[in-house]
Amino acid sequence: MALPEFSMIERLRRRNPVSRPDVVLGIGDDAALTSVPAGVELVLAVDTLVEGVHFPANAAASDIGYRVLAVNLSDLAAMGAEPAWATLALTLPEADTGWLDSFADGFFGLAEQHNVQLIGGDTTRGPLTVSVQIQGLVPAGEALRRKGARPGDHILVTGTLGDAAMGLWCVEHNENPASINRDFVIGRLAHPEPRVRAGQALRGLASACIDVSDGLLADLGHILAAAGAGAVIEVDRVPVSAEYDHLWETVCERIAHDRYQWPLAGGDDYELCFTASPEIVPGMIKCLEAVGTPCTDIGTVEPGSGIRCIRDDGAAYTPQQTGFRHF
Ligand code: ADP
Ligand code: MG
Repeated sequence: MALPEFSMIERLRRRNPVSRPDVVLGIGDDAALTSVPAGVELVLAVDTLVEGVHFPANAAASDIGYRVLAVNLSDLAAMGAEPAWATLALTLPEADTGWLDSFADGFFGLAEQHNVQLIGGDTTRGPLTVSVQIQGLVPAGEALRRKGARPGDHILVTGTLGDAAMGLWCVEHNENPASINRDFVIGRLAHPEPRVRAGQALRGLASACIDVSDGLLADLGHILAAAGAGAVIEVDRVPVSAEYDHLWETVCERIAHDRYQWPLAGGDDYELCFTASPEIVPGMIKCLEAVGTPCTDIGTVEPGSGIRCIRDDGAAYTPQQTGFRHF
């Protein structure tokens, strides 16, 4: 059913499951008002998803709704921030209630988990484009940054890497048989779990942090560029899921690269990559376990530049490609 703009906004407003005491004025005026406590900094990020670029034309609206919020939450996680509010710019080819309700299922389901209130936005007609600006809070001076790693710091990552890239391969190569492993990696692509609690737990511990959206080597490269340093990565320690390895054995003959390629250079996993001085690493791993996030020590920052990859026998490993670039 087609709807005028104001009823679309009203429909979204009614679905909003979160009502925060720090929202002075939400959807309905010319702008929203929120109160930021003293001693706290506002953390802002925006991410846009464009049909045909970030998701295929047949993507489920609920997956788009989930994803656009998840990628923004991941940016706040990488800063160690606590998410609070979001605004949503929706550009739709037509006003379709079925699409909007499905979008709302994905968006608000995740918003509720993270106590994020939708406080405003913009609704326009045009090629399908969805943009969220998220706002979060962090104690003043405590945000994690890309800059701050020092030679000697260890390099860690949360969760597992390569699943989303393999999930994309499975979606694009439909011949792969249905299996729980296939469902798992496609689920990791469609519903990345932003590491919000882990990011907050890393405040005061990590010397630098970034979320892995473009691939480990590319994103770690940003931390190293900010530090003016290089790194060594032990590729056999880079964590992959059991599902990844099972699938790998069935698909490896049909693809042109090796097992390490996706974990090192595949995008869309939305794990955190961070650095810390070696003496605090064991305590840090325990802190993350306490918030339900596994993490793995995969290498060390070193003087110089560039990333050296080595196998567990010490031999050099050369990746075929290092990450995703839009331009
Ligand atoms: P204005 O013309 O003053 O910008 P709009 O008519 O665009 O106002 O929006 C009216 C209200 O609805 C505003 O509070 C705006 O933030 C909110 N709004 C519009 N589109 C959305 C959306 N897609 N999601 C959430 N809130 C929205
Ligand atoms: Mg106005």
